[in-house]
Amino acid sequence: MQVSENSVNNTASLKNLKGFDANHPPDPKLIDTCVHCGFCLATCPSYRVIGKEMDSPRGRIYLMDAINKGEIALNTASVQHFDSCLGCLACVTTCPSGVQYDKLISATRHQVERNYPRSLSDRLIRKLIFSLFPNPDALRILLVPLLVYQKLGFSKFFRATGLLKNISPRLAAMESILPKITLKSFQDNLPDVIPAQGKKRYRVGVILGCVQRLFFSPVNEATVRVLTANGCEVVIPKSQGCCAALPEHQGQTEQAKALARQMIDSFAKTGVDFVIINAAGCGHTLKEYGHILEDDPEYREKAKEFAAKVRDAQEFLATVGLTAKLSPLTEKPLSLVYQDACHLLHGQKISVQPRQLLQQIPRVKLKEPLDAAICCGSAGVYNLLQPEVAEELGKQKVRNLLNTGADLIASPNPGCTLQISKHLSLQGKEIPIMHPMELLDYSIRGIKLQQ
Ligand code: SF4
Ligand code: SF4
Repeated sequence: MQVSENSVNNTASLKNLKGFDANHPPDPKLIDTCVHCGFCLATCPSYRVIGKEMDSPRGRIYLMDAINKGEIALNTASVQHFDSCLGCLACVTTCPSGVQYDKLISATRHQVERNYPRSLSDRLIRKLIFSLFPNPDALRILLVPLLVYQKLGFSKFFRATGLLKNISPRLAAMESILPKITLKSFQDNLPDVIPAQGKKRYRVGVILGCVQRLFFSPVNEATVRVLTANGCEVVIPKSQGCCAALPEHQGQTEQAKALARQMIDSFAKTGVDFVIINAAGCGHTLKEYGHILEDDPEYREKAKEFAAKVRDAQEFLATVGLTAKLSPLTEKPLSLVYQDACHLLHGQKISVQPRQLLQQIPRVKLKEPLDAAICCGSAGVYNLLQPEVAEELGKQKVRNLLNTGADLIASPNPGCTLQISKHLSLQGKEIPIMHPMELLDYSIRGIKLQQ
């Protein structure tokens, strides 16, 4: 198949096309592994919603190849097809030829950010996102005016009237996923070292995340309690910052590298056996540090060693086994549906472990939703940058979760939790949504859920 010159290259002449630079363009050897069979199209959420070949994995691989060969330009028309990719990696799971689309799109995103001049409004919104989200201290300062904003009822007003959507769909998208800010968002009260309960089995580090520590601090507290109850001494270095997931996924090369170095340094002298993370997107990036810092002679080896120690909390607990006793969460059987986060399912191939852990809780009955492997539309900040596609995917995801008839949704990623909560509320449904670590914590502590 030929990439249509008109569709992607309507402004540039064939001479002097602006394309990728020489710094790690998408690898032609990886591109050549694609046999163009199209199996990946059925599981690609952007193709499902937009319905165009160029918004599918196969189409984007054609584009990368054509840009590499100087046949088309890196311009507005081609970049919009890369931007529409959620980075969910469902195509990597589906592809029978083992095409490493994750590496291809990652290389492409870094190229786009270096070589494509975005519009002023796009630059501004990205600047806002990249200066705030990977910076929990800055985000915490912003929580003060946001708390006032919510208390004065502006949030309810904008959500009810849809006024903000007419001004800026992206700002409206940002506003619509803002969770309720509580006093807990201003506290950082986990100590540096928390001893294991009973016989110590492991010494583990815990990464707090950015969104997780501000908006979902009970999930971090629950994770620490579950780990200590299962014989882990927990270390939480206060110098840790952002894991770099957000800048890495959006092609912000230097910011991602700086954050990865800071994270490695913060755990350097802790002597931990493993580094535990309870957020899917962060875990995937932490395991990629060897790749992110491959060109850094000082950090290359340290990054590989660090990445080898990273474990998702559920992956870790399912491997080492639970030693703490679990009690039922409810008097009657509790049916719950586990929401597969893409960066766990496709990025880290973790799907059995969370289900195994949840099924160890007495009286829990697990339900499976339709299209469990399709992204909910959150995808890092995708729902802020591409709100229309994200809206449709959020709607579909919530419909499928509700159709299981489950009493509760278990979600292992803060982005998915925010997206699903938003669409539950838009569909007028109230169903609790909790992290699997919270459910295990309740079960260990004998706390009952309301039914
Ligand atoms: S990425 Fe894989 S599944 Fe998709 S077209 Fe290429 S070879 Fe086929
Ligand atoms: S990462 Fe997800 S959205 Fe992007 S091409 Fe693959 S399946 Fe489609």
